[in-house]
Amino acid sequence: MKMSEASKLRAKWDNKPCNHPDLSKEYHLGAATGDYVCTTCGECGFGRDWVKREKDEAKS
Ligand SMILES: [Zn+2]
Repeated sequence: MKMSEASKLRAKWDNKPCNHPDLSKEYHLGAATGDYVCTTCGECGFGRDWVKREKDEAKS
């Protein structure tokens, strides 16, 4: 998913809760940024396991 598409998704989603069920590699100008974007809400994080890390942090 392109960075611009992700920011559109984020604007549309409007900070509602999301458990990020599906991630897509983020691209900017045709190159992978190393970030993964949630295809539902557009939130992005570094690496394909950021959702898991975020959930682990929430537990502790
Ligand atoms: Zn999400």
